Amino acid sequence: MTRNTFDRKAVALQWRRTKIIATLGPASASTAMIQKLIDAGVNVVRVNMSHGDEQTHRVAVQRVRRAAKRAGRHIGVLVDLCGPKIRVGSFERSRIELETGETVVVTTRPVVGHPGLIPSQYRSLHKDVKAGERILLDDGKLALQVLRIRGTEVACKVIEGGTLSNHKGMNLPNSRISTSALTKKDRKDVRLAVELGADFLALSFVRTERDVKQLTGYLKRLGHEIPVISKIERPEAVENIDAIMESSYGIMIARGDLGIELPAEKVPLIQVDLIQRARQKGVPVIVATQMLESMMSASRPTRAEVTDVAGAALLSADAAMLSGETAAGQYPLQAVQTMDRVLREVEQHQWQEGEFADEPIADRAYKTHFIRESMAHAAVQLTRDLDMEAIIVPTSTGTTSRIMSAHRPLAQIVCVCADPRVCRKMALHWGVVPVEIRRSEITNWRKVCRHISARCDLGKVGHDVLLVSGFRDDPEKNEPVLKLLHV
Ligand code: ATP
Ligand code: MG
Ligand code: MG
Repeated sequence: MTRNTFDRKAVALQWRRTKIIATLGPASASTAMIQKLIDAGVNVVRVNMSHGDEQTHRVAVQRVRRAAKRAGRHIGVLVDLCGPKIRVGSFERSRIELETGETVVVTTRPVVGHPGLIPSQYRSLHKDVKAGERILLDDGKLALQVLRIRGTEVACKVIEGGTLSNHKGMNLPNSRISTSALTKKDRKDVRLAVELGADFLALSFVRTERDVKQLTGYLKRLGHEIPVISKIERPEAVENIDAIMESSYGIMIARGDLGIELPAEKVPLIQVDLIQRARQKGVPVIVATQMLESMMSASRPTRAEVTDVAGAALLSADAAMLSGETAAGQYPLQAVQTMDRVLREVEQHQWQEGEFADEPIADRAYKTHFIRESMAHAAVQLTRDLDMEAIIVPTSTGTTSRIMSAHRPLAQIVCVCADPRVCRKMALHWGVVPVEIRRSEITNWRKVCRHISARCDLGKVGHDVLLVSGFRDDPEKNEPVLKLLHV
């Protein structure tokens, strides 16, 4: 193959490998802001069912679809179900101040709160807590200790004061709570997600694979299939992680609640372990919560936050997520731009070093996947040895792209697909650029290359690309091909 004359580095690094997920909310509800966030590089948008109403979610998703079209990119929509998250209700002035040392009352009556009175949306709270137990508020920033319980009123001493605003989370780390992972509200939200054509459903407070199956079962009954991302935020989920990963499409390391339900110092090593295990299984993994938290109210991040974002790329997570930063912060666009810059900085270093991450070891137990994995391994080798620009994967379901991605090749993975839903699903995966083309053209590699080069600066004249195709789940028809092309 002839030596390339173009700027290899610029071509190789034009697309960020680690994907960015941005949560929508009041700070990012406008058409203009959604467009800006997408143009700044957001790959997946998260709609959090814990906040906002049906109408705002509907409008938000419509705006995302329109902005994606205008940008000519595939943007995934992730609908995040509340699950049995316990939350405070709302307050007369949207917030109250809690003074350390004072006594407040948490009530399960459906009332609007005011200074000294905190409504809990969890109706059984007064039955589940006992004197002496702790109630944590707003991701554990504030803490109460239960003094006594009188009917629906739970009197508490404020251990750690601060501002408490509407609908903040409530954790009962010492108490035993007995609610289902899929609440009545969740089922309603699932139906909305189906109607809105959501690309992913995130399930909160998963404990075992049974919780996941409850959701996939419900989806099936509705006649739909939406990839489920299990949020790992309970100690039981960490214990049951292998089975949960087998039954989920992906996982999210939801460090907010995880760091409350478990001692916060346990979270970093759990994060390292979960990312490795997920990649080993070809399961996409998202790092979430407080990545650039200080950017809620400052235009620049702290050094510690920058290091945290960089850490997600160094560990080779599929995606890093912004929550309050883009949903309710003062600098949503700057938060995305910052995340983009930090991730790219790490990636260009990794690329220069010649490796993004260790390769997973193929699982022999899974026959058809084992062939795909071995081919992925070969593709990684070939593209590295021959300085190839891209791995082009024509696909109908995205399975081959997903496995390629788990191997973290140096070359960009271009997933060529006729199904826009699959393209949007690929928006979540590390290093995959989805390109939609007509079904009739998918088998003609010249046309495929022409489409790709029109859409992104890959597959152009002079580029060396590897075409990976021919996989079938039916072993009789499975005839995988690796084709080396000098365009
Ligand atoms: P979860 O446990 O599902 O992550 P959360 O309450 O932490 O729920 P995030 O989406 O992570 O919600 O956002 C972090 C913070 O940003 C929230 O606590 C809330 O104050 C604010 N926020 C997010 N979305 C909205 C919204 N749609 N309306 C108002 N505030 C929001
Ligand atoms: Mg949560
Ligand atoms: Mg959160």
